[in-house]
Amino acid sequence: MAQLKVVLQFPPNLIEQPITYQLIKKHDLMVNILGARITPKEQGRLVVEISGKKKNLDAALRFLKEIGVGVEPLARDVTWHEDRCIECTACTSICPTGALSVSRPEMRVTFNHGKCIACELCVPVCPYKAMEIVSK
Ligand code: SF4
Ligand code: SF4
Repeated sequence: MAQLKVVLQFPPNLIEQPITYQLIKKHDLMVNILGARITPKEQGRLVVEISGKKKNLDAALRFLKEIGVGVEPLARDVTWHEDRCIECTACTSICPTGALSVSRPEMRVTFNHGKCIACELCVPVCPYKAMEIVSK
């Protein structure tokens, strides 16, 4: 059994295609969606954990690349630049793990690094570049 955590980047023309269904049915894989940012007519990002037989995983990765889906490994680490953060809360609703959260009623934004799975969904959402991918 092989397992992979990746970010899938969907071009706008593939957003509405049942691609995860094909990974499950056609390639006999288990797909666990860890996070998603899908907006109609824009590029979409899906963070998934895919597991199954290695040959099926390899075939699925080839299939994704052939149809134009970008496949990237999860970032190694993500840093929150607190000094750049204006606590707009835009990232807190997209964070799938609660690593970025807002306390109410104070509306204070905090980052819990231990909960972060480095899915990168918050990075394009932050208008102040407070979330940064760090490669090791
Ligand atoms: S990279 Fe970390 S903080 Fe950002 S959305 Fe993903 S889990 Fe949340
Ligand atoms: S989107 Fe950026 S500025 Fe807004 S709360 Fe999140 S980290 Fe802070």
